[in-house]
Amino acid sequence: MSDEELSAERGPNARVRTSSFRLRVVPLGTSAGRPTLARGASALAIAAEGAWVLCDCGEGAQVAALRAGLSLSRLDAVLVTHLHGDHFNGLPGLLGTLGLEGRERPLTVAGPRGIVALLEALARAGSLGIGTLPVRIVELDGEGGSVELPEQEDFLVVARPLAHRVPTYGYRVSLPDRPGTLDVEAALAAGIPPGPLLAEVKEGRTVVLPDGRRVDGSRFVGPDRRGPSVAYALDTTPCQDAVELGRGADMLVHESTYENARAELARSRGHSTGVEAARIAAEAQAGTLLLTHFSPSVDAERVADEAREIHPRVTAAADLAGIDVAAGSL
Ligand SMILES: [Zn+2]
Repeated sequence: MSDEELSAERGPNARVRTSSFRLRVVPLGTSAGRPTLARGASALAIAAEGAWVLCDCGEGAQVAALRAGLSLSRLDAVLVTHLHGDHFNGLPGLLGTLGLEGRERPLTVAGPRGIVALLEALARAGSLGIGTLPVRIVELDGEGGSVELPEQEDFLVVARPLAHRVPTYGYRVSLPDRPGTLDVEAALAAGIPPGPLLAEVKEGRTVVLPDGRRVDGSRFVGPDRRGPSVAYALDTTPCQDAVELGRGADMLVHESTYENARAELARSRGHSTGVEAARIAAEAQAGTLLLTHFSPSVDAERVADEAREIHPRVTAAADLAGIDVAAGSL
């Protein structure tokens, strides 16, 4: 997505909406454990028109975001799965940049237990340099749940615990449902004048016409359109919570650190194989599966080939290769 596409006006009267009603998923780092020349450490942008959220913030994530044409000032939230360095080490640098830019709009940072103490320790040591940047930290515990993004109505975010070696949460990011399409011809034929009244009808509201008639706007509006959703599950061994997180999602992003021959190694390190990720996606009936978090020792395309024997729509994530996600886009 270009910067222009992300530059819709904001403000109380300029509700940001995606005209195409899609999410764009942009992997910013797809390597496990450490960055390589081809793959950065874990980070993935989920963008709508005018705003985006960042899932994980491995080293180099902010530079990758700039390369992807994402405006840092449009970032609504950083959703950290766990505090291992390959998912976290880019966050102090990103916060420092936002502080230097003089950002005044609050940034939400969600993460597992311990993230508040960690960021506070970095701040005390002078490592953050966030200036007056208002950072709102949501420290997750237990079953997770809804992550509120105050003053930001672009995204719905839900967190759910995963099964790794340290406290870890996956996230599901969706666009809110929208009213269905307005049958303009029928509305005009019923005598609703173009302008503010028609706009009210478009939202499905009841309006009073100049001639005194009350008209139920919902008569002219089709069924609600479901917002697209992306579930982000890493790092984790195969677990039921990942299934629930990805249940019916249009895209499940799941870690696939190793090929299936090394399933035991994956399990012992708290990770999954591509085949295991595909089983999760199949059980969840996720529309598509995006594999990421590849060990530098694996061939990602081979991992994806293995996974395709289980789930028909599998892509091996590549850094900066964005993918559009629409609701029900099978
Ligand atoms: Zn990792």
